[in-house]
Amino acid sequence: MSDKYDVVVIGAGPAGYVCAIRAAQLGLKTACIEKMKNSEGKGVNGGTCLNVGCIPSKALLDSSYKFWEIQHGSDQHGITIKDAGLDVPKMIGRKDAIVKQLTQGIAGLFKANGVTSLFGTGRLLAERKVEYTDESGKVTVLEADNVVIASGSQPIDIPVAPVDGEVIIDSTGALELQAVPGRLGVIGAGVIGLELGSVWNRLGSEVVLLEAMEDFLAIMDQQIAKETKKILTKQGLDIRLGCRVTGSQIKGRGKSKKVEVTYLGADGAEAKEIFDKLIVCVGRRPFTENLLAPDCGVALDERGSIYVNEHCATNAPGVWAVGDVVRGPMLAHKGSEEGVMVAERIAGHKTQVNYDIITNVVYIHPEVASVGRTEEQVKQSGEPYKIGTFPFVASGRALAADEKDGLVKMIVHEESDRVLGCHIVGPSAADLVQQVAIAMEFGSTAEDLALMVFGHPTLSEAVHEAALAANGHAIHIPNKRKR
Ligand code: FAD
Ligand code: NAD
Repeated sequence: MSDKYDVVVIGAGPAGYVCAIRAAQLGLKTACIEKMKNSEGKGVNGGTCLNVGCIPSKALLDSSYKFWEIQHGSDQHGITIKDAGLDVPKMIGRKDAIVKQLTQGIAGLFKANGVTSLFGTGRLLAERKVEYTDESGKVTVLEADNVVIASGSQPIDIPVAPVDGEVIIDSTGALELQAVPGRLGVIGAGVIGLELGSVWNRLGSEVVLLEAMEDFLAIMDQQIAKETKKILTKQGLDIRLGCRVTGSQIKGRGKSKKVEVTYLGADGAEAKEIFDKLIVCVGRRPFTENLLAPDCGVALDERGSIYVNEHCATNAPGVWAVGDVVRGPMLAHKGSEEGVMVAERIAGHKTQVNYDIITNVVYIHPEVASVGRTEEQVKQSGEPYKIGTFPFVASGRALAADEKDGLVKMIVHEESDRVLGCHIVGPSAADLVQQVAIAMEFGSTAEDLALMVFGHPTLSEAVHEAALAANGHAIHIPNKRKR
């Protein structure tokens, strides 16, 4: 086999593997290099998302929710359950089996589409050449008309709480715990902190989250963030805002090892907490280590991401970069769409990604989901706007399911009536917000949504009512806006 390809992709996460599959579908001779190994020491595709991110975290969120629900969510339905048992290693084993099934699925998809899958490390040289070091250490230079870098991201470390993989862990460690920690500390109340904090809280840990910012979920719509914080606090998560962690110290030995965390609270006073485990999840940074030869021509931006234009072209001709390693939200679906765009552009198409309409979800219970602009962003832009909200407590379907917490909030342009954003905390928020995302892609107005027939009884009626409420026509709540 010749070592000359139309496309060489470095990294087989959701950005890279999707790009490779689409490129091969378009008739391009494509190879995809991946350096990750599974617990058996074998090369594995799927990147962070499939191995240690989206999928394993959702598997544990679903398992832990079942455990929580049978204990706390059954009685009101007239169902009495005694002695719910917990087998954490079995729960983790189920998660591992799902990861295995999906990562093997990528191998199957590569084969079916004719992608050459190469396990080992890729390094970009000048002139679109890629130095490929296979798992035995053998080095080959691959030539390509196009190289796509999809090397992903890694957790940010903080010197005040260095991860030791035992007591102080990152998100990957938090997906592997074999027993429920009595007290679990979490530094960073962002997406990972809330999702993994929720997993272990539901399984019985006392969870304390120490968050540096004074606003909770600062990038989200603040009305929805405040409602979310109320709901999580009711579930038992102890969320402390405005905290600055100043140090951590391991105490004890062997199995009784704990960590003492020192921090300055919102009032500026020093406080200490002892935890059995501490998760550090203060964000992720682009991963570019040992990836770029000095003369490869690819530049980084001030945040360490690979610099790309709106079509994911780097400033080296024929070199592209997609996913977490470039600007924008670190989300699997954002990277995958970039992967498709790049493959299609290489094949001569004019594909674009609409960065204004990318959904964002926190998979706690109930889910928090958003698309488009927040009220704060619209207000700051100075554009005139109106708001329609609908609380789930007024939804028949939500009440039937005992899912009455939360609301749908739709932000609409005052004059054009176009939907500018939608923010939901509530049951199935991820799927509901996707409906609004589809509407926004087609330039929908609130009236367009209002005129559609929504099935009854469904949770999506809450989206319908929020759209109606934006113009003062809601039927199942009193309207704030009179029309
Ligand atoms: P990655 O998935 O990180 O893949 C990059 C791959 O490149 C890796 O496999 C790496 O080994 C490989 N690589 C790097 N350098 C080289 C090299 N030199 N040679 C060969 N291979 C190399 N996002 C969501 O949208 N929804 C979620 O629910 C969600 N949950 C998450 C939960 C957790 C706990 C975490 C940590 C992340 C979560 N994310 C979620 C984020 C999501 O996982 C990332 O946005 C996504 O994986 C990024 O895809 P990527 O392909 O850019 O990078
Ligand atoms: P994040 O940016 O969501 O949250 C990090 C939090 O840590 C922020 O609230 C930040 O203010 C806080 N923080 C930073 N430094 C701190 C410090 N020294 N002390 C206390 N708090 C501090 O990042 P994350 O939760 O680590 O997740 C990383 C990325 O992974 C996210 O950007 C997200 O895009 C992706 N992810 C997505 C999902 C999802 O889509 N459901 C789930 C998990 C992760």
